[in-house]
Amino acid sequence: MAEEKGITPQSEDFSRWYIDTISRADLMDYSPVRGCIVFKPDGYELWERIQDGLDSRFKATGHRNAYFPMLIPESFFQKEKEHVEGFNPELPWVTEAGGEKLEERLAIRPTSETIIGHMYSQWVQSYRDLPVLLNQWANVFRWEKRTMPFLRTSEFLWQEGHTAHADEQEAREETERMLEVYRDFVETEMAVPLWKGQKTPKERFAGAVDTYSIEAMMKDGKALQAGTSHYMGQNFAKAFEIMFLDKDNQRKYVYTTSWGASTRLIGALVMVHGDDKGLALPPRMAPVQVVMIPVGPPKLREKVLEKFNPTFDALKAAGVRVKADFRDETPGWKFNEWEMRGVPLRLELGPRDVDSNQCVLARRDTGEKVTVSLDGIVETITNLLNEIQANMFAKAKAFREANSHYEIDTLDALKAHIEKCDAANETYGWVLAGWCGDDACEAQVKEETKFTSRNIPFEPPMTKHKCLTCGGEAKHTVWFGRAY
Ligand SMILES: [Zn+2]
Repeated sequence: MAEEKGITPQSEDFSRWYIDTISRADLMDYSPVRGCIVFKPDGYELWERIQDGLDSRFKATGHRNAYFPMLIPESFFQKEKEHVEGFNPELPWVTEAGGEKLEERLAIRPTSETIIGHMYSQWVQSYRDLPVLLNQWANVFRWEKRTMPFLRTSEFLWQEGHTAHADEQEAREETERMLEVYRDFVETEMAVPLWKGQKTPKERFAGAVDTYSIEAMMKDGKALQAGTSHYMGQNFAKAFEIMFLDKDNQRKYVYTTSWGASTRLIGALVMVHGDDKGLALPPRMAPVQVVMIPVGPPKLREKVLEKFNPTFDALKAAGVRVKADFRDETPGWKFNEWEMRGVPLRLELGPRDVDSNQCVLARRDTGEKVTVSLDGIVETITNLLNEIQANMFAKAKAFREANSHYEIDTLDALKAHIEKCDAANETYGWVLAGWCGDDACEAQVKEETKFTSRNIPFEPPMTKHKCLTCGGEAKHTVWFGRAY
């Protein structure tokens, strides 16, 4: 039995709350290698649900999975200048193997543009070979100084899509299509509201022409970049000589894209929906959607089972992910345990319920308890799960709106806002502000407030006219916030 240890309240220390929650819910453990974590079955199962949801969407948009080696020759990184500068500080190297020093060092991949670019240069010869639409599920390494389980670890799991196209327009459409795939998955399945938008040049992926992201607000008001999609133009095509013979008999460089989402989505799920009781999982993501707990004196258990077992079977047959908890613990202990693990719905059934042909349903999202008839229980529960899913999305969206600030138009006003929040122990949230497009103005925001530009949303709720920093004419309207 798990050690009875409280979860630090969110308002007291959000980071502690997060670590307490993922530890008590048994999602992960620390590993002997610094900055790396073990994904325990309950954590890995969340990743499997993320994989299922994304993979089916990738396939529906014409992509197929492949796998490339994890070790990448050093010379590959030298071919794209920005790429090597961006990733070099974080690369772990393999320098010897089989007791011998290697002629060329091999990097453990931080991302696979280089090795995939190399292979595409051999596979693509003619316009008939295009587009190439591949995805890879893999682990990658980025040697991080400051780590946080799921959100930032030195080794993490992800998928990386890599595509090659004959022309710019098609590649740009692909970049936006995959950003929309991420939005659809994260909002529909994870019930996490997002801003889709473009990254500023400073925040671009190393080697990309344009980077787009989906950004989510965590319950401490911080931002989490939940997925990115990059338009690479011909940068990697030129570095790796990916050329094709076009219909007009000219040899041309392809246009490439890449897009990725990782196990940090697990962190987002926890931080968007969790509360002081622990995890709260939206039904579409929850490995267990309904937990059934028999109540009443043990000597009447057999009577309870008369209705309990057929109910369990009917839910299972209807495709509901249901679990029955017969452990030798008190019902109250079990209620707390499953609430902490975030199961969306609890079904309690006791001897008196059998007589009246009913049961009690308790919702994790609202804490409400209702008594319902066992007639039509499958439909009742299916409807309720849909309602919980919708409610969790609406709640997360309302939280985001309550913590989005539209009236802070100068750096001084932002600093005053931060001071005010500090004094009241409130979250800073995000600020929608104008930006003139100058890197220096963006850097000054970061330097003086630790707020970074999140993205330039595609659909801003309002348009800003003045730069937050210099007061000059705004070229873009940008979300700023503290970020993970
Ligand atoms: Zn400015």
